[in-house]
Amino acid sequence: MKVGKLIVLTGPSGVGKGTLVRSLLNRHGELYLSISVTTREPREGEVEGQHYYFVSRARFEEMVEAGELAEWAEFAGNFYGTPYFGLKQGIGEGKWVILEIELEGARQIRNNFPEALRIFILPPSGDELERRLRSRGQDSESAIARRLLRAKAEIAAAGEFDFQVINDDLEVALKGLESILDLD
Ligand code: 5GP
Repeated sequence: MKVGKLIVLTGPSGVGKGTLVRSLLNRHGELYLSISVTTREPREGEVEGQHYYFVSRARFEEMVEAGELAEWAEFAGNFYGTPYFGLKQGIGEGKWVILEIELEGARQIRNNFPEALRIFILPPSGDELERRLRSRGQDSESAIARRLLRAKAEIAAAGEFDFQVINDDLEVALKGLESILDLD
């Protein structure tokens, strides 16, 4: 792999980034997922320290003030950020660190870590994205509406990324990612 050790995966909410990342992590021990902090409430089944570090808004602001976040953004009414300590830990273990983050954060990473490899995950269509968001059954109608609006803006920016991968068939998308990352 000719690129640096930071991999940014971005794509609209509901596109299946989480599933793709989990499959990649299961298959490739050299990858490390950065765990973000968020002010969002945990969804059913989400585990502290595994899916996110769930923090109060005050704590999040403290982390921003103290310069503890490599990037952060507001998304659909909540704050999300990448703590430096995760990046350092992954890199310290000699791994390739994956950031699964939204567009604004990806842009900050591009400015601060220009060597990062940035990949955008696209849905096969807008209708399919909406179907996936609804079938997840985890978000309120207003949250779904906010996420769909944001999805349009994110998809419009897909060309800013080094690579675009369409997540129609999971296996095909995984193969695409593995080939971009030069993983066997
Ligand atoms: P969700 O609430 O569905 O878990 O995540 C909402 C969006 O926030 C997703 O697009 C996800 O990629 C993004 N996100 C998760 N963690 C971070 C982070 O640390 N920074 C940024 N900028 N976005 C994040």
